[in-house]
Amino acid sequence: MSLANFSFPTAIQFGPGARKEVAAHLLAQGLKRPLIVTDRALGALPVLEEFRSHLRGLDVAVFSGVFGNPTASQVMAGAAAFKAHRADCVIGFGGGAALDVAKVVGVAATHEGDIIEYVWDHPKVRAIEKELPYFVALPTTAGTGSEVGRSSVVSEDATHLKRVVFSPKILARKVFADPELTLALPPHVTAATGMDALTHNIESYLSPAYHPLCDGIALEGARIAARSLQRAVQVPGDIAARSDMMMASMMGAIAFQKDLGAVHSCAHALGAVCDLHHGLANALMIDAVLEWNHERVPEKFEELAHVCRVPGGGKAFVPWLKQLKQSIGITGTLSSHGVTREHFPKLVDIAFKDSCHQTNPRPCTAQDFERLFAAAM
Ligand SMILES: [Zn+2]
Repeated sequence: MSLANFSFPTAIQFGPGARKEVAAHLLAQGLKRPLIVTDRALGALPVLEEFRSHLRGLDVAVFSGVFGNPTASQVMAGAAAFKAHRADCVIGFGGGAALDVAKVVGVAATHEGDIIEYVWDHPKVRAIEKELPYFVALPTTAGTGSEVGRSSVVSEDATHLKRVVFSPKILARKVFADPELTLALPPHVTAATGMDALTHNIESYLSPAYHPLCDGIALEGARIAARSLQRAVQVPGDIAARSDMMMASMMGAIAFQKDLGAVHSCAHALGAVCDLHHGLANALMIDAVLEWNHERVPEKFEELAHVCRVPGGGKAFVPWLKQLKQSIGITGTLSSHGVTREHFPKLVDIAFKDSCHQTNPRPCTAQDFERLFAAAM
């Protein structure tokens, strides 16, 4: 057996009210001038003002210029705001997009050049060599788990191509995971983001890479999401269900440092070509892909069915997922969400070039992707 490396480095303070601990934590580090990085929509909502009211003793500035798929120019604008405020730390506050920008504002503020020069596959990639400003993250959705991730996805302004800055140095120094911040999310957002979290746990467990630590986290994450997703959608004010979904979201993102699979390759293509919400795209693809994966790893489906309390064992797992989707209001197929056969060549091309399916339990050809998209129509 070859040598393996495992690492779970993020400190997490978890629970209702965790956001109220941020000020004391920053002051204890000798920090006084945070820049909050958030998205445009959140910047105008009372939830941000409420959070700021707990930042007594700090001189706070807000950059709320994140919107859509975040771009390099948004990161550079955030870095300019950081310098203008003479900030000494960054607070990321928001969903995946805001947190992805917040992760690299500190890089752009302390290093030369454009943030695109720091993406991992840039032909003349620059090194992140200086110490980065202290960074804490507060997720306001329960899905991507970006708060515990070490990558930041930013699009090139001219081409809209998604590029990835990947470095353990951009990890949050501390995550304040407060499920109260998700209480106001509308049901369709809770459903789609929750399906993303569930998919992360399932796909990372199914991937063949050797990572028993992540396998354990993924199974438990799937169990927690399975028991609470429906309730979080149907009873939005249920703090226990909201807590479960925030935990399952972080566990999914911690687990997928192991890897993901073909559901995510399809979802990335659907996001790029048809602008489908990432969580919804996963939800629309997951049954077709898992049905196809089942015969390759039936024992893993038995395990998933066991932890998710699916009566009938591994064979009943995909039918159970279909029922779960119905119960949280995710109905219809790709075609009822605007995807047509004309989109297929582009979808297949992008999905096949995506790296996630390299760790799908079953190898995927371009023809396989065509069949999977067709099955989800
Ligand atoms: Zn995802």
